Amino acid sequence: MAPYLSSRTLSFHYGKHHRGYIDKVNELVKGSDLAESSLKEIIKTTAGDEKRLAIFNNAAQAWNHTFYWKCMRPKGGGAPSGELEKKITAAFGSFENFEKEFTEAATTQFGSGWAWLTSDGKSLKVVKTGNAFTPLAYGQTPLLTIDVWEHAYYLDYQNRRKDYIAAFLDHLVNWDFVAENLANV
Ligand code: MN
Repeated sequence: MAPYLSSRTLSFHYGKHHRGYIDKVNELVKGSDLAESSLKEIIKTTAGDEKRLAIFNNAAQAWNHTFYWKCMRPKGGGAPSGELEKKITAAFGSFENFEKEFTEAATTQFGSGWAWLTSDGKSLKVVKTGNAFTPLAYGQTPLLTIDVWEHAYYLDYQNRRKDYIAAFLDHLVNWDFVAENLANV
């Protein structure tokens, strides 16, 4: 991923932050009725349940991060092709407009969170979510995400979130994974 994301960022982000969420959710569901559930089931079951907010937060962060890693590859980015390009053009007018909307959502997510390209089964949408919140929790199918928590970019970009978003779109997006998600909607 270098030079767009350094090994230092990846080793903290994957090895410490993501690992922390996974360890925590495992600890929180141990011995409970959710112990055998999949992450997706845990997220859907605990969404909006104030008493199980810690379980929701850690499960959603565990899932969001696995999804985020798959959204990137070396020499990625640029414009997609095929069915995905058609759907993006239908929803946003052009790929450039999609990039603008996605960048706007990722830039303006105040504090920690995520920006997403999602499908509701009919059309595509750009949405942003705060903290651990995930479109999975309200019946949307995530197609692409970018993590805009500071830990995702601070070591490489400091406060320049917009530069990280541009590098993600220009050099890292794995459109094959996004297309696969679209095919499974
Ligand atoms: Mn993160």
